[in-house]
Amino acid sequence: MTEEKIEQGTCLRCGRVATLHRGLCIDCFRKSSEIFTIPDYIDLTVCRSCGAQLKGKHWEYGGELKDIIEDEIHSSLEELSGVEVSLEDIEMRRGGEGLYHVEVRAVALFPGGGVIPTRKALTVRVKSSLCPRCSRIHGSYYEAIIQVRGSGKDLLRQEEAVDRVLERVDQIARGDPMTFVTKLVKVRGGWDIYVGRNQSARRIAQEMHRLYGGDYKVSSKLVGRREGRELKRFTYLVRLPPWRRGDYLLKDGTPHRIEGFQGRRVKLKNIETRREESVEISSVETLAHYPSKEVEMEATVLYTSEREIVIMDPVSFAEVNIKKPPGWKRRESVKVVRVDGGIYLL
Ligand SMILES: [Zn+2]
Ligand SMILES: [Zn+2]
Repeated sequence: MTEEKIEQGTCLRCGRVATLHRGLCIDCFRKSSEIFTIPDYIDLTVCRSCGAQLKGKHWEYGGELKDIIEDEIHSSLEELSGVEVSLEDIEMRRGGEGLYHVEVRAVALFPGGGVIPTRKALTVRVKSSLCPRCSRIHGSYYEAIIQVRGSGKDLLRQEEAVDRVLERVDQIARGDPMTFVTKLVKVRGGWDIYVGRNQSARRIAQEMHRLYGGDYKVSSKLVGRREGRELKRFTYLVRLPPWRRGDYLLKDGTPHRIEGFQGRRVKLKNIETRREESVEISSVETLAHYPSKEVEMEATVLYTSEREIVIMDPVSFAEVNIKKPPGWKRRESVKVVRVDGGIYLL
């Protein structure tokens, strides 16, 4: 494109002295030629289920039909050299099956400063199709199942875990449309979540295991062959441990805080001796369990002696003597754990 020459002069048609475009003033120029052109028709292929658009060989997700049409008009618009056209708005009216009559409002900006509003009309033909993601979802396609299982006592946590899986699927789906949930089934002891993409299911199941601890198992089943390759369906079992990190177990008469999980083992910290140990979950599963929010509390410090801190039991209001830990500094209240009538400094 060559730059339009801007010059001041006498309009060849009306004789007015003005900024000239190809020898004409803006008004005469506008009458004499097309400032910009758009095609009469635009053809689109759009998924009837989710609205994704087929561009070349790829499907683009997440655009509204109006935005897609605006983009298409933008990229097919041809303007006179030197003129800048900016689309103001488009108005869509449904015609027949898959047809939209579109009116385009635009303004043309001339290099000399002239602004001319313009309207043009075109027809958009929309071919309805089904994108690969939607055809898989409609066909109940899945590559893997995430099985979330719990102890049965803590249904709320199972649901929290399932919500987290669904949230992660949504997040991954933004970059990978083939990650989706086809089915969510309540089963005995938990939930089965059917996932469209195996890699995503595996990633999420591993994240869940890292987050919650407990048991994690992978199994697979041969479901067929395609082009000589084995087609497998994977199952990821995420078994939630019976307690949460931060909860307490009463072991050998002393509360132990659950510090974390490693596979089938749990890390416990004796809150009197501060010693940590790692034990099999199954070996401590029957111990009395205290959720942290039920047993952790603030207690007022009444006074201190050389070796002891005297606090008020926040439940019975009795005075309780606690051995002063080395290096303890005087403050108004302390955090304590109250388990089975005993009070322990945190
Ligand atoms: Zn003129
Ligand atoms: Zn679709």
